[in-house]
Amino acid sequence: MNEFLSRVRIVLVETSHPGNIGGAARAMKTMGLTKLHLVAPREFPCAEATARASGADDVLAAATVCDSLAEALQGCHVVIGTSARLRSLSWPELNPRECGERIAESVGAGEVALVFGREKSGLTNDELAQCRFLVHIPSNPAYQSLNLAAAVQVLSYEIATAFGYGGQPREIGDAGGAPATAEEIEGLFRHMEQALIEIEYLDPGNPRHLMQRLRRLFNRVELRHEEVNILRGMCRAAQRHAALAANKR
Ligand code: SAH
Repeated sequence: MNEFLSRVRIVLVETSHPGNIGGAARAMKTMGLTKLHLVAPREFPCAEATARASGADDVLAAATVCDSLAEALQGCHVVIGTSARLRSLSWPELNPRECGERIAESVGAGEVALVFGREKSGLTNDELAQCRFLVHIPSNPAYQSLNLAAAVQVLSYEIATAFGYGGQPREIGDAGGAPATAEEIEGLFRHMEQALIEIEYLDPGNPRHLMQRLRRLFNRVELRHEEVNILRGMCRAAQRHAALAANKR
């Protein structure tokens, strides 16, 4: 197994049809991908999934079942969400080719995740907020929604193509320190939100999408572990000053 392809995690969120889980496993295996994470699947393991996997049952057997998306993303430093529709939010968007290339460039520094939504409703805004990029497979504007396993196939193909079918990652991206993981970035946003409330910059009664805007800003750069520490240190210092000022009042 290619060591680098094994750092690519396919995450399926709350899949309703076990056949789609099997179909996704098969799609992955044809492209050399093996790491499947299932967030709260309606039914798994299941004979229908195994039947649809048709020979990719090793991918199913090794699948990790998680309770939440955050748990499925643990340890990943790049998270890409998928969407059948273009969202109104101006999320950094990749086309399938750019998605494959971004993944091939990122695996040198650690694990990456590609997240797929529910058959009926896709991913929620909260789930999309945990993704740094969004990828949309261009399709018929009058009928844009691919079957879940078909979407996994298209994007797995692009990943395999970007790797040159079993090749090496594009570049080892660790100059300047280790990239921040998804948990570190989520921890930073929670901390920042709390600190902004305490210094009375963010009014929880009228947040005006501030956190969403800040996420968009920070998602444009690839935060490093050390940079997250600096930003959290700044939040702690601001919180200390706000507490001192409150005592003096
Ligand atoms: N009605 C839902 C459709 C979900 S389709 C919606 O509008 O979001 C189920 C999943 O398949 C999606 O969450 C996404 O992960 C994937 N998918 C389907 N079509 C896609 C497309 N054109 N581009 C990217 N992902 C797609």
